[in-house]
Amino acid sequence: MVKSQIPNPKFRIAIIGAGPAGTSLAIRLAQENYKVCLIERERFPRQKLCGEFISPECLRHFRDLGVFEEMLTAGGERIAETAFYAASGKRVGVPSKWFNDGDAALSLSRAEMDFRLLERAKSLDVEVFEESSVINLSFVKDVICALKLRAKDGGAKEVCADLFVDATGRARVLGKLVEKQKSQIPNLKSQISNRFVGFKTHLENVGLERGVCEIYFFRGGYGGLSYVEDGLANFCFLVRAGIVRQFNSDAEQIIENLVFQNKRAAETLARARPVRDWLAVSVDSFGEKNLHAAKNLLAVGDAGAFIDPFTGSGMLMAFESAEILAAAIAENYSAETIAEKYKIEHARRFGRRLFVCSLLRRAAFAPGLAGILISALSVGNTPRKFLARATRPREV
Ligand SMILES: Cc1cc2nc3c(=O)[nH]c(=O)nc-3n(C[C@H](O)[C@H](O)[C@H](O)COP(=O)(O)OP(=O)(O)OC[C@H]3O[C@@H](n4cnc5c(N)ncnc54)[C@H](O)[C@@H]3O)c2cc1C
Repeated sequence: MVKSQIPNPKFRIAIIGAGPAGTSLAIRLAQENYKVCLIERERFPRQKLCGEFISPECLRHFRDLGVFEEMLTAGGERIAETAFYAASGKRVGVPSKWFNDGDAALSLSRAEMDFRLLERAKSLDVEVFEESSVINLSFVKDVICALKLRAKDGGAKEVCADLFVDATGRARVLGKLVEKQKSQIPNLKSQISNRFVGFKTHLENVGLERGVCEIYFFRGGYGGLSYVEDGLANFCFLVRAGIVRQFNSDAEQIIENLVFQNKRAAETLARARPVRDWLAVSVDSFGEKNLHAAKNLLAVGDAGAFIDPFTGSGMLMAFESAEILAAAIAENYSAETIAEKYKIEHARRFGRRLFVCSLLRRAAFAPGLAGILISALSVGNTPRKFLARATRPREV
């Protein structure tokens, strides 16, 4: 592994971001006795914008990470089927068992899931710095040697390591800092014209069947509804930024005027009331990002590639990319060989999935196309199963 040129770096690996990618990577490395630190901007548990649908293949990762029992007993909902609804009310169902030999999916708040993973990492002696944001990087030649952190209370800290992992999600904080230092400013114009905004809250009084996750398509976006803990349901939707501006960024207005154009959503959400404030985030782009922005910096999870939320598999990709990076680190010594191995495996595992999603994305934001696709797929199981599995890991 590349040695940083500051004497006695404190950690072998510094991971930034304690979402599913960063924390699961920290757990896997700690299980192999690596000295790891995990740096997170927030204090957990915290609410997080997400559909909170944990696809069935994630359960295998929970087992590996030593959190299986506690995730299943955390009060979430087991999801046997995802039902996609066109605006007209036409429905097509995808059983969870198509993905993982009969296992149901799980719907659990990110507050619970991420907190339980972080507690597991702490129990394995991962050093965790919460409420600490990375604000800068120091280089020696083209190797990163230290991170500068700013704590919420105003304190500053420097963390040194041999290898750094950007697990900051779509924000790609480290990748962007490197690009800025190298003056590689991304083409913002093309990104901004594609912008979407995600909204999410927990609702009471939804008219939803137990054990089903429902996805609604409407003009300019789509949303997902499923029960989580305490009889509440999570409702999360993604919509074009231009439309959001027309409704003054008001989630309730968007629901009344757009989401309710979907007949099924108008039924299930008619009496629903939010029990928390709405969260909102901007989504600038989908697909692959820069996995290897600097010699000893690699990206996992959304920081490496962002898959469309309608697949309900972003967290799965976070767990899988962390797994393949952990394996590459365990097998190799130098940062260069780790990066080579990781990039090859990343492309092999995710290339096809990301490509299929780029084709389906057009339908996801055009209700007419979504309606045609849902009608076509409702004819028989085979095409539906084929398409659903094309958004998932290749069979071994
Ligand atoms: C609208 C929407 C709905 C979705 N629904 C689903 C779904 O139902 N199912 C599913 O599987 N996936 C879903 N996803 C995708 C899923 O949320 C992501 O794929 C997943 O969270 C990626 O995990 P991650 O660990 O890479 O990043 P994140 O979960 O985003 O974690 C990144 C962490 O980094 C921290 N961080 C950021 N900047 C800094 C900094 N400077 N310093 C320190 N820490 C920092 C953040 O606080 C955060 O905790 C959805 C996404 C969107 C946008």
